[in-house]
Amino acid sequence: MASISFLGATGTVTGSKYLFTHQNSRIMVDCGLFQGLKELRLRNWSPLKININELDAIVLTHAHIDHTGYLPRMIKQGYNKPVYCTEPTKDLLKIMLLDSAHLQEEDAKYANKKGISKHSPALPLYSTEDAQKAISLLKGIPYNTPFRPSAEVLMTFQDAGHILGSAFAIARWEQNGEERKIVFSGDLGRYDRPILKDPSPIRDTDYLLVESTYGDRLHEQGGPKNELARIINDTISRRGIVVIPAFAVGRTQELLYTLRELESQGAIPVLPVYVDSPMAIKATKLYSKHTEIYDKEANVLKDQGTDVLMTQRTEFTESVDASKRINASQEPCIIISASGMLTGGRILHHLIQRLPRKKNTIVFVGYQAEGTRGRALQRGNDKIKIHGQKIKSAASIETISDFSAHADYGEILNWLGGFERAPKQTFIVHGEPDSSKNLKKLIDEKLGWYTHIPVYEEVVELI
Ligand SMILES: [Zn+2]
Repeated sequence: MASISFLGATGTVTGSKYLFTHQNSRIMVDCGLFQGLKELRLRNWSPLKININELDAIVLTHAHIDHTGYLPRMIKQGYNKPVYCTEPTKDLLKIMLLDSAHLQEEDAKYANKKGISKHSPALPLYSTEDAQKAISLLKGIPYNTPFRPSAEVLMTFQDAGHILGSAFAIARWEQNGEERKIVFSGDLGRYDRPILKDPSPIRDTDYLLVESTYGDRLHEQGGPKNELARIINDTISRRGIVVIPAFAVGRTQELLYTLRELESQGAIPVLPVYVDSPMAIKATKLYSKHTEIYDKEANVLKDQGTDVLMTQRTEFTESVDASKRINASQEPCIIISASGMLTGGRILHHLIQRLPRKKNTIVFVGYQAEGTRGRALQRGNDKIKIHGQKIKSAASIETISDFSAHADYGEILNWLGGFERAPKQTFIVHGEPDSSKNLKKLIDEKLGWYTHIPVYEEVVELI
């Protein structure tokens, strides 16, 4: 009988890892890093309760680190089999895994310098070399094209509409002469969003893992466009500068698309737009390369010769010097930089420059986790600490919540509504406890399916 072990993304949104077994097949779907609370992060350091040597393959739904960032750690523990993902995910991972390794190495260096680790010397979770080995194992598979990660299992990827390259991973196998099917939702995207196609419909499955990040929330109606235009126009009327901390992959590109649209509609004036994050610049190039993932609207524009990710005055500031030159700008402009939660990166330099001035605006377009500088500013703190310096917060602070790349519960139910029969078992994963519980209640009420919220390291037989 087939089974699933839930090795992450239970009671939390990070650390996605599921072991699928059937006869001799052992396939791990997603290989994510735990992030956030210390108690969760410590799990990255304890050995997995599975035999890594028995694995046939790892299959990744998309490139986000909470779904892939444990991969180099697997390499460190001896994993050397194929890792399957879509072609765009493979391209993104070449950037993102190296970046993740670099951060791990920096953390270890910092701990050694400050003497704050119990271990001497503190070691990184994995190194750049481990990340390079992980990258060498990646096998890009086109969407909707079957591949065989093990002798008994056939899999395909279908577009999940979440970020560039995101997919549902679907596995098929034979049990007692009958075909069985399981769908791993990965992160479920949204409908009618810029650039990406809608999540592809699924008609039927025997087993389903569905994410529940926003299982207890509905995004605002009407989209973020008008709100963004209002904030930009208000700031310009004060001759101020708009600073937008944004995640490098996905959010930055959606912002560029939206700004171009607003500009072409005359809803905002033509302004310099600086994209000041090496990772965001690389990711934007990949969004421009993989136009096969574009939705109809983006494709029409592309065919008309429009670069959908460029406003009239977009400038990609790759070098440190080019980045520093932005500081001299006193004219109204828009600066998009990472990290999205102000935990590091070039955005911190822009805050030092722009946060103390009343005429400027800082716009949050992504989730700000507890304990981050982003959350502190949202809460109204009048100072934040950057590089040991206290920086006064006088700029106007705005939040646009509707830029999320995750379906809300309405959109999840919409996607589930396309299923023509109830799965035998539906597992609700990838959510904080309240979100998962609420989604379970909604599915129970509206669809009457059998659902279960697994706990960490639970093993369930697929009956
Ligand atoms: Zn994701």
